[in-house]
Amino acid sequence: MFLPVKQAECSAILNRLIKMVEMILEYSVKTLFQELDFDELRKLVEADLAPLLDRRKIKKAIEELFQLPFLERTEALCAFCNDVEFQRHIDDTNYQLHQRSARGSGSGAYMEVLNQLCNELYDAVDVKKGIVMSEIQRDGKKIKVPFNIRLLKEQYQRENGENGCVCPVCVRDNLFDLGEGQADHYFSRKKFPALAFHPFNLLPVCSDCNGALKGVKNPIDSVDIGAGELCTVFLPYVRPGKNEIKFGVSEDCERRIVMKKGPNGDSYTEKRIENMERLFHLGKRWNRELGYVYDDLMAELNREGGRGRNREERLADLRRILRDHANSTKDRRDFVKGIYCAWLQTKTDIELSELFQNLKFDNRST
Ligand SMILES: [Zn+2]
Repeated sequence: MFLPVKQAECSAILNRLIKMVEMILEYSVKTLFQELDFDELRKLVEADLAPLLDRRKIKKAIEELFQLPFLERTEALCAFCNDVEFQRHIDDTNYQLHQRSARGSGSGAYMEVLNQLCNELYDAVDVKKGIVMSEIQRDGKKIKVPFNIRLLKEQYQRENGENGCVCPVCVRDNLFDLGEGQADHYFSRKKFPALAFHPFNLLPVCSDCNGALKGVKNPIDSVDIGAGELCTVFLPYVRPGKNEIKFGVSEDCERRIVMKKGPNGDSYTEKRIENMERLFHLGKRWNRELGYVYDDLMAELNREGGRGRNREERLADLRRILRDHANSTKDRRDFVKGIYCAWLQTKTDIELSELFQNLKFDNRST
């Protein structure tokens, strides 16, 4: 999670599903001595969501919830309520998410039931199909449209301007091409079932970032699992890396992008960078662009004024180019160029001349 991005407005619809699960879990605790009554449960749920209760697998998950001992049901409710509040606890050193163990054993029967209930619900709703209706403003009127990936994509792009079409992790462009960049889970929905349809856990990322690189890996390092674990990671929407990271370029001849704690970072920033690198290998992927960036800058500089210009004029050209490129996030190449240019801006004229030896400065006037 690197770029600061805003959620698509319609993703707030997912809060209705969260409320629905919370209500089912509460009902399972309140009705301790009663049989499970689906008709009663249906009346408690919002009318347009009620058909979800009749889906075979969801019904089965609810039945299994009611077969749990009372204590486990309360644990399921507490775990769910705790986890769905995660975005409010990102700096809380006492806070911890409930994690389901890989094979499902050892994490309590209630975690298995939560896993079934939340994941079946996610599959049933599936943002592609658009079962749940979302209210949106169109031509000054409020209308109901299905909550689906098209709407999510349109709104996400509109909300995020220049960042709306690039991967918020690696800054690769054409985010939504080839059907990628859908609602990807930052915390795996199998390990963290309560976050299966959490609007702060769903982030469109490119297939490079979501596929072999991250997969279902836990953003939290195994040694950090425990109280305060969220402090150790960057988080979609609420704690993007860009706000805390200062970029540089290594001084050795290899020229690598270096990420360090910036002025807005805190005592966890270095750890967060480490965790982001473990998941996405951004340094390595961005470094590949550096070679092209240098060539791009040389070409641009030569277009500016040709070889007839003197040293001062060419340096002024270069400084202007560097200023123009710093802070770009249009695509990955431009972004890396921005890092490189921002680093070059910190150099003296002599250092710049050395770095750009190929400039063949016309020395007549110096
Ligand atoms: Zn990416």
